[in-house]
Amino acid sequence: MRENDLLEHIYRHNTSLPAHVSIPPGDDMAALDVGGTNVLVAVDQLADGIHFDLKNTPLQKVARKAITRNLSDIAAMAAQPVAAVVAGSLPKDFGKSNADALFDAMHATAEHYQCPLVGGDIAIWAGPLLLTVTVLAEPAGVEPVTRRGTKVGDVVCITGQLGGSLETVNGRTHHLDFEPRLSVARALAGDENLRPTSMIDLSDGLAMDVSRLCRLNAVGVELWADRLPVRAAGHQAAHRDQRPPWMHALSDGEDYELAFTLSAQAAEHHLPAEIEGVPITQVGLIIEGDDLLIKQPDGTVVPLDALGAMGWEHQSNG
Ligand SMILES: [Mg+2]
Repeated sequence: MRENDLLEHIYRHNTSLPAHVSIPPGDDMAALDVGGTNVLVAVDQLADGIHFDLKNTPLQKVARKAITRNLSDIAAMAAQPVAAVVAGSLPKDFGKSNADALFDAMHATAEHYQCPLVGGDIAIWAGPLLLTVTVLAEPAGVEPVTRRGTKVGDVVCITGQLGGSLETVNGRTHHLDFEPRLSVARALAGDENLRPTSMIDLSDGLAMDVSRLCRLNAVGVELWADRLPVRAAGHQAAHRDQRPPWMHALSDGEDYELAFTLSAQAAEHHLPAEIEGVPITQVGLIIEGDDLLIKQPDGTVVPLDALGAMGWEHQSNG
């Protein structure tokens, strides 16, 4: 079973949703009209053995990621955190001091990002550590930016750098230590010259996540390998496995950066090289049709899936 297939099955119901659902399933967050106000909501789970390895990850970093992963979805909507609730399934032998440390660290992270932890539930079970975090958000003084709206001719841009998110460089492991792009997203969405036509956060790799954006908007894309900014950890990963660094940027996943689109004219005249110290890079172009392409450094253009670059999909054991 593949996550994309399951999601498409769920989205079949989108056409029959009640009117108070203003952003339906299929975006980084759903939005609901509650008493005349837009409330955004999303849920994410973090499981030992899938999203982290408890054997060699400090609990504080696990706790941090449980919260920041959700904050990255809030950033993808250019929204503002309101609160979080967490359901924790703890292994039998986890112990009270570990549980205390875990929840204290989640609490501290949530507080740091003005997203107070306001409730939850704890169960003890025979399975691995599993943290399920639900976040609520509100518009940050601007309309939320959704995955829908990009058009042929738009450029694809990303924040920050990509690749090697599991590698540790100078004590920093990106998938645990990343900074959710909340304020960069708000700066983009609130600037009439820069407001993205669509936006998504990068959790499963640029190739996979941009393909989702394209499918939703019935467009294709050409990404440019030689423009992909690769973080030091991506180069480290490339050195280890002898694949080109841009392949890591394309498909490693867990970047928690933003990919967004905007008109070529807006990009040409208004796009800064960085926002609040975070680099902004044009990495491709939205094209007609449904082709998902990459222009390689030698100039040849090939389908992304021909490179096995479609990121990793969460798969069940079935
Ligand atoms: Mg997301």
